Amino acid sequence: MVRKPLYALIASGAIAVALAGPISPAQATVVDGGSSPCFDPVAAGAARGGPNLRAGDTRAVTAAEQLQIAQRTQRILDAKVLDGLKALLGGKGKPGGGGGGGGADPAGAALTNIPVYVHQMLSASGAGRVSQAQIDAQIAEMNQDYAGQDASGHTGSPNGDQPAAAKTAAHFYLAGVDEYLNNSWHQDRSSTTYRAQTRKGGPKSLNIWLVDFKYLGIATFPWDYAANPSIDGIRVQWDSLPGGDIAHYNLGKTATHEAGHWLGLYHTFQGGCTATNDEVADTPAQATSTTGCPEGQDTCSLPGLDPSYDECYDEFTPNQSSRISTMWTAYRA
Ligand SMILES: [Zn+2]
Repeated sequence: MVRKPLYALIASGAIAVALAGPISPAQATVVDGGSSPCFDPVAAGAARGGPNLRAGDTRAVTAAEQLQIAQRTQRILDAKVLDGLKALLGGKGKPGGGGGGGGADPAGAALTNIPVYVHQMLSASGAGRVSQAQIDAQIAEMNQDYAGQDASGHTGSPNGDQPAAAKTAAHFYLAGVDEYLNNSWHQDRSSTTYRAQTRKGGPKSLNIWLVDFKYLGIATFPWDYAANPSIDGIRVQWDSLPGGDIAHYNLGKTATHEAGHWLGLYHTFQGGCTATNDEVADTPAQATSTTGCPEGQDTCSLPGLDPSYDECYDEFTPNQSSRISTMWTAYRA
């Protein structure tokens, strides 16, 4: 197994790969090294639904909006600090940030104890069902990835050119599984409706809808929870779970990747090769998404290589881990 950069779990846009066609080699032109400018991921076909590129699995965030989100996050965090001080001084302080709307989380829900509700959206005849063992393996995979370990216990690159994988605070447990027999929902149609009707828990609960669509997965961001609590969560191609039958994408890394967005991580190609980039300092800037295991591919002149397939995903970086905790405090705590 080729070891890839630690940031790979969230680096490639995992996941709007069009499953209808064969997985082709990376289609993006590699702009390598030197002062070569980045190219536009969308122009390179990385838009949602674009052919065989891992991208577009979240709503698009423009540079201006990215700045607004960052400023809003800081305001919320500042207010929480102030509230904490007021509480210390005997005042009440108002509960800030977090969720509003949506349902209630199970007792004890926290970043270190994230309830996961798995919704099996089956066809009318029951197609698309995964086993309990697969669901258990999926949760175990996520916990392993977020703990900074892979199946072989790898915690850094063998040649030492990558930082040790971060043990993030995120830990998941299975809170419930249900299933629905509905051809339309199975194919992810009327997703706003079916998510609203089936979602469980509040801002701290990760809802995973298993569907059959042309993507590997799609995620919502934490800063969108307050405005749209009923659709919060991730949608995942049902046979991408461990033991599924999608070659290169059946190790459960899709759900890990989508959960990364749900926890507040951008793709490393967010913002392209800019200083702001994905707002995570220790992930190399990346021009666009990639496919396969592009050993040595480097779409930005900034340090670091590009990612991809399930087999080459590793773990998260220390700064990604920090961002996960920060975003949880701001939007889900
Ligand atoms: Zn993604």
